[in-house]
Amino acid sequence: MTGWRQQIHRQPEFGFEEKETSAFVASKLAGYGLEVHTGIGRTGVLGILKKGSGSASIGLRADMDALKIKEQNRFAHVSQRDGLMHACGHDGHTTMLLGAASELAREGNFNGTVYFIFQPAEEHGLGAKAMIADGLFERWQMDEIYAMHNLPGLPAGSFCDEIRLDHGQ
Ligand SMILES: [Zn+2]
Repeated sequence: MTGWRQQIHRQPEFGFEEKETSAFVASKLAGYGLEVHTGIGRTGVLGILKKGSGSASIGLRADMDALKIKEQNRFAHVSQRDGLMHACGHDGHTTMLLGAASELAREGNFNGTVYFIFQPAEEHGLGAKAMIADGLFERWQMDEIYAMHNLPGLPAGSFCDEIRLDHGQ
């Protein structure tokens, strides 16, 4: 997974331009045996994993886009695109959701459907709307949907909810 994150970090793509990232995600998902749909909301990707015969469903969502920031790191996987950088951690988010897909496909003990949603263009706020406008929730019904975002400064291994974020803590 570290290797995936570093590969994505090396090739950052701006919102709605996540062509290589989408292709990488789609090929990984297909490799786990998932049903894969691409081009949802322009560059969004959906992976579907079904187990058993249950009708319960859940959506798990990550974002894939990078920022127009010049990276000043010097490590080996530094951005190879001048003026573009995964400065918000979406390389990590994409990797985490791919990791979840891999693990659940291999060992997931559940009865129902998991939808893995890889969203474009989170930074300018248009990617989720684009996927929804493209029929994401009409074509695939999800009982619940969850997303998360990294929060630098929080101790490793801890989580906080949106309410606490709203209060700036
Ligand atoms: Zn972000």
